[in-house]
Amino acid sequence: MRVIFGGTFDPVHIGHLRMANELATALSVAEVSLMPCYQAVHKQGVGASSQHRLNMLALAAERDSAIILDDRENRRTKESYTINSLRELRQEYGSESLCLAMGTDSAQTLPSWFQVEAFSKLAHIIVISRPGTQYSQAAEHALVSQLETLGFIQAESLNELKEIPAGKFMLVKLSALDISSTYIRNRIKQGLSIRYLVTDAVRDYICDNALYQN
Ligand code: ATP
Repeated sequence: MRVIFGGTFDPVHIGHLRMANELATALSVAEVSLMPCYQAVHKQGVGASSQHRLNMLALAAERDSAIILDDRENRRTKESYTINSLRELRQEYGSESLCLAMGTDSAQTLPSWFQVEAFSKLAHIIVISRPGTQYSQAAEHALVSQLETLGFIQAESLNELKEIPAGKFMLVKLSALDISSTYIRNRIKQGLSIRYLVTDAVRDYICDNALYQN
């Protein structure tokens, strides 16, 4: 089973790293791929270039064998739609199980993603509950029915995810950290320390390249 965790990673922080690491354990896979988008289709005002974001991810992941980097969207060098990556991944992995992992905040926006109606033929969706986002039972029910409308069926077990290539979804609760890239960018703008919020190598990289200063 392959697990892909996409995002802007602007910059990658320890919340992302913990999440990828815990996800590998929760899904019993050896590794999780972080796949940065070339340009965030959903986000305005992304701070660092795709090359900088990729370099920071490489630095952040270099000491964790459970986290690998998938730079396919950067190699595309134009608008990055998740559907294109899913189609490529499906071709590469044949009938192997493929999971697209994301936080609840991203999952709630899924209906507006380009060609989302084709996703359930290509991959499973793993939704990770993320602290800081108001996530009531009502919100969880709404998310479940939203995913069902998009053609996904809730998996009863991990084995179900592994046995078939695509079309299931699973909600996973992890002890994720309440940190966001926005919080880090804002702290840098205010001249505040980001120590321990990103890895030391990422912090040095941000400083050396004067990223997110204004
Ligand atoms: P921003 O603040 O710029 O919106 P972000 O911190 O949410 O950025 P993204 O790159 O947009 O980071 O996130 C990529 C994925 O990681 C998303 O699915 C998001 O839900 C998830 N994520 C981000 N931060 C955390 C965290 N602290 N814990 C768990 N998941 C996270």
